[in-house]
Amino acid sequence: MIALISDIHSNLEALNRVMEEIDRLGVERIWCLGDVVGYGADPNRCCEIVRERCELVIAGNHDWAVLDKTDITYFNPVAKEAVLWTRRELSGENREFLDRLGLKLKADQYLLVHSSPSRPEEWLYLFEREQFEEEFQAFGEPVCFIGHSHVPVIVDDELKIYGTGVNVEPNHRYIINIGSVGQPRDGDPRASFATIEGDRIEIRRLEYDIETAQEKIRKAGLPEFLAERLAAGR
Ligand code: ZN
Repeated sequence: MIALISDIHSNLEALNRVMEEIDRLGVERIWCLGDVVGYGADPNRCCEIVRERCELVIAGNHDWAVLDKTDITYFNPVAKEAVLWTRRELSGENREFLDRLGLKLKADQYLLVHSSPSRPEEWLYLFEREQFEEEFQAFGEPVCFIGHSHVPVIVDDELKIYGTGVNVEPNHRYIINIGSVGQPRDGDPRASFATIEGDRIEIRRLEYDIETAQEKIRKAGLPEFLAERLAAGR
């Protein structure tokens, strides 16, 4: 079994819970789609766990923002404040780790990218049918895994939408947003990640200790909204 995680956003409680489940499931390989840091209170510990446990890791916009590798003028004020806080907190070693990450990787028959396969450095958010239609032209692999919007979704090349799992058919291609470990935004506050087992791809959700993650955000002096939104899943 392979597990995919994304958008951890320095939420150690959510990451630990997902890793616990990954171990219980007997997962052999873990791939990470970026945004390890930003928003939450544990950037260093989350980087260390990802470094230790993930076979493949790519960068997200928040990882790049913390390194000053992408423009943060389009970030909202709360996100910006979290980026600046994380810059001060992050160790040199973890900074170097994030700095080595690329934006796109091919793994087995899968493509991994944080935002969009067509223009990964533009950090597009894929929500509309037309966008998915266009993105299917931008890659040739049977399945492209993405994160970034924090909203899990499975779409095939006929723009059919699936629920929480799909059996990959040889005559179809798929874009699969695996959702966010550390800051889900689909109205469900449970941590989200995905697994691949043979042809079966599953999006899984897990309850975790949201209260502790919120307390740490408040203690760190990060914006209150970042604590509140964890409980709302928004
Ligand atoms: Zn993110």
